[in-house]
Amino acid sequence: CGIVGYVGTQSALDVVLAGLKRLEYRGYDSAGVAVPADGSLAAARKAGKLVNLEKELLERPLPAGTTGIGHTRWATHGGPTDANAHPHLDQAGRVAVVHNGIIENFAELRAELADRGHRLASETDTEVVSHLLAEEFSGCADLAEAMRLVCRRLEGAFTLVAVHADEPDVVVGARRNSPLVVGVGEGESFLASDVAAFIAHTRTAIELGQDQVVELRPAGVTVTDFAGRPADVRTYHVDWDVSA
Ligand code: GLU
Repeated sequence: CGIVGYVGTQSALDVVLAGLKRLEYRGYDSAGVAVPADGSLAAARKAGKLVNLEKELLERPLPAGTTGIGHTRWATHGGPTDANAHPHLDQAGRVAVVHNGIIENFAELRAELADRGHRLASETDTEVVSHLLAEEFSGCADLAEAMRLVCRRLEGAFTLVAVHADEPDVVVGARRNSPLVVGVGEGESFLASDVAAFIAHTRTAIELGQDQVVELRPAGVTVTDFAGRPADVRTYHVDWDVSA
């Protein structure tokens, strides 16, 4: 139900967890984070409130990293268990994805992946996306391009955000019929389902348009449509008071 992504110079986990807390008002049943660092990808996820995830992170800390994604889930496909909590990884554990919404054609995609030898570990509609991203990434070595290729095959409403161990300074987001806002900072970039998640860091925002993909890097953001054509990007200033 809430999504936060960060790439920059700060501790990604700190930024992402603080952002998820600002989205708690939306309601959720489980939570998780993923950080690409040291050539691999680390993730933690827990059913229940964010405190459960924070406890898990104290017991089993993730490596420090400056890129990360986080999610609070409102289960639609698969019960609110640890195994169904996001992020979902591919089989090799190189790509992690979080998702708000519903992938309507997930059953066909699951069957297709199973035919190609993939083993899916959850009951969610989301997990097909991590496996498809891994397949496409192995062909193009570009997470934004992999996301565009995968989105063209998805039906339904989705905000998707992903990271890959091989592109540790990149967070990629995509949206169709579901909100996603990008925050542009100095040497750091943010994305979230709601500006409240990053307003403490930057007030320069971009509302992602329908069927668009954004690539976040510390130096800035690139927005295209699902076919890869550059999109018109209009930044706006978030001027509402959030001290309360
Ligand atoms: N459909 C996904 C799931 O059930 C995402 C739910 C959400 O929007 O949090 O895991």
